[in-house]
Amino acid sequence: MLSGVDHDVPDGIGMARLAWTRLPTADGEEAGPSTSAAADYELLSAAAIESLDYEVIENYAYREEQAQRSKFWVPYYVMLKWLFSLLIGVGTGLAAIFINLAVENFSGWKYTATFAIIKHSYFVGFFVYTVFNLALVFSSVYIVTNFAPAAAGSGIPEIKGYLNGVDTPGILLLRTLVGKIFGSIGSVGGGLALGKEGPLVHTGACIASLLGQGGSAKYHLNSRWVRIFESDRDRRDLVTCGCAAGVAAAFRAPVGGVLFALEEVTSWWRSHLMWRVFFTSAVVAVVVRSAMNWCNSGKCGHFGAGGFIIWDISGGQEDYSYQELFPMAIIGVIGGLLGALFNQLTLYITKWRRTYLHKKGKRVQIFEACLISLVTSTISFVLPLLRKCSPCPQLETNSGIECPHPPGTDGNFVNFYCSKDREYNDLATIFFNTQDDAIRNLFSAKTFHEYSAQSLITFLVMFYSLAVVTFGTAVPAGQFVPGIMIGSTYGRLVGMFVVKFYKKLNIEEGTYALLGAASFLGGSMRMTVSLCVIMVEITNNLQLLPLIMLVLLVSKAVGDFFNEGLYEEQARLRGIPLLDSRPKQVMRNMTAKDACKNQKVVCLPRVSRIVDIVSVLRTNKHNGFPVVDRGQNGEPLVIGLILRSHLLVLLQAKVDFQNSPFPCGPGVLNRHNFSDFVKPASSKGKSIDDIHLTEDELGLYLDLAPFLNPSPYIVPEDMSLAKVYNLFRQLGLRHIFVVPRPSRVVGLITRKDLLLEEHSNNVMAELQSTSV
Ligand code: ATP
Ligand code: MG
Repeated sequence: MLSGVDHDVPDGIGMARLAWTRLPTADGEEAGPSTSAAADYELLSAAAIESLDYEVIENYAYREEQAQRSKFWVPYYVMLKWLFSLLIGVGTGLAAIFINLAVENFSGWKYTATFAIIKHSYFVGFFVYTVFNLALVFSSVYIVTNFAPAAAGSGIPEIKGYLNGVDTPGILLLRTLVGKIFGSIGSVGGGLALGKEGPLVHTGACIASLLGQGGSAKYHLNSRWVRIFESDRDRRDLVTCGCAAGVAAAFRAPVGGVLFALEEVTSWWRSHLMWRVFFTSAVVAVVVRSAMNWCNSGKCGHFGAGGFIIWDISGGQEDYSYQELFPMAIIGVIGGLLGALFNQLTLYITKWRRTYLHKKGKRVQIFEACLISLVTSTISFVLPLLRKCSPCPQLETNSGIECPHPPGTDGNFVNFYCSKDREYNDLATIFFNTQDDAIRNLFSAKTFHEYSAQSLITFLVMFYSLAVVTFGTAVPAGQFVPGIMIGSTYGRLVGMFVVKFYKKLNIEEGTYALLGAASFLGGSMRMTVSLCVIMVEITNNLQLLPLIMLVLLVSKAVGDFFNEGLYEEQARLRGIPLLDSRPKQVMRNMTAKDACKNQKVVCLPRVSRIVDIVSVLRTNKHNGFPVVDRGQNGEPLVIGLILRSHLLVLLQAKVDFQNSPFPCGPGVLNRHNFSDFVKPASSKGKSIDDIHLTEDELGLYLDLAPFLNPSPYIVPEDMSLAKVYNLFRQLGLRHIFVVPRPSRVVGLITRKDLLLEEHSNNVMAELQSTSV
């Protein structure tokens, strides 16, 4: 019926043109020559990005499954959801502990060895420090380029895309999870200017998705009894819990985690989901706390000595005066400017990298990361050598701080290249240290001036440059911690100025460092509520809440004036088509028909020949096809939408093929479970090229009616595009049919028709009378 002739179908629906050419498939199989896993990943992911199916496909397998559900199904489903929330929390908490434990121990060994060696030779110490860093960074970039290309970067733009309805291949696989965990250990332990917090969000999302599908299908770790959350809809909720768990674990900030998921990553939110996300975050907080208590007794090596996840500032500034609001607003402006500049620079550099570097293969990527590691090690070791040491301040007894800190352990006042014992090197204290300790040192609220302006400016310029250059290398990398370090440096600088200016007020430089950190994150990531809560939670200082709110609002406003937020820009660069919550202004003057002008709709007849289906799938990349039948009078009638993935399942199973070119009738056998049609998260899925059919099979027929979505969403052609956008975005749709203005109306539904409880008696009576 399809081959060669134009099919007489409703207005605007053309005929599938059949040709046996090998175009890139929906899975991106054919796109571009192969260079390396990571380079391929970058090139393919944009081409292979597909939408998720949040819509319920009410085909016969679905309806049958619904009918078979016992009355215990709903309680079981709800119980399992809560159980999964618990497991996601435990899993993410444990992953965070493991990453932190490894990073802290590697860093501890590195600094212990380096401090021991520099007593004898600075040159050998430098060599050991550099080689240690290089080995860790190499392990990270090697894992990512060879094993888990989707683990590069923070993963937040991809997860944001996933929760917006776009599936980037490979982001939620087991190998990505493993690559992310071990890659983060290497890149953060290796001292690069990046953090482990963004990757933890991705780690939480991977754990959630893998739990939801009962393990990894590829490695046969897939257990059936938990495979209840197989639809993209259910998985979306689990992944949301995973994101919140990641932030909660990274910063030990449970409420911050919930708000981060709500404000930054999700596109759909329900109050039911809020409770579960909240529960998951609380579980994470308990797991992290228990592990830290256990480790505090010295069972975990270098981990636990400093309680590194928390940056409590005890004894900080408790109050503020109105005169301080102006310099604080200035910090907000600086944060907005530097944050927007960071986004712009990283955008340019990522584009340049894609065009010139990463196409050349994994060796170039490995070389690039190793070179950046060498530069970072050299700068962080050599620059503090050029600084003069300062004498230790007279600390109050019981202040809890030693000056200088004993070599080999980290903390305030590092004694590095100092001629006397009671001296410290201020630049080494922030540069030649683990990030968590450096931040604690920058936030530290003591009344004397611990850092010179010269050291802070040197650190700011060098670290900012390193963070910009390191962003986009093929290693797992988060931007939270670099952002906090950059922001707290200029915040402290402003603080020093304010202390000088307002001599009589009780001003702490550490408070300004904290506000600086908030302002840079606000200026770059453009979050407000969640960042504010995270900052309060990590510092345990509620007094500063209004000030943090002020700087965040200012920095976001200033940043928004110049460009989009970091994650939005990166998502766009990676070809992830995010849909904002609101349509563009111009859409108000366009109609649905304008959006699909000159489109020749590729559709399939209800009973299609196998050869035609194969041909349509090969020649088109589309994932959905309208299915057309003939009405009683022979007029064409659209009966639904069939998905590519469902066609592929049917072609592979072959059990529904028939000899007859006529519909199979109502007594069709159910040969499929609903779960047969489910595609694992972020997998490449089946490709038409993987399916082998004999000549005889190609000549058979398939009746598509039982498998299609009989009730896709439909809009009239003259509906404004803004309205279509809202419908599409709010319902999380993948396809909408645009049809001519309908000729008749069979009914009208109002709010009252949807309140079934009130009308259930009438409705049931009606149903009974019609069935008699
Ligand atoms: P997604 O990529 O979001 O998963 P899809 O793969 O079905 O959905 P695309 O092929 O990516 O859709 O869509 C690209 C363009 O092709 C869009 O403009 C869309 O309107 C159009 N298109 C999609 N399906 C068909 C079809 N069956 N016939 C004709 N045009 C189509
Ligand atoms: Mg597509």
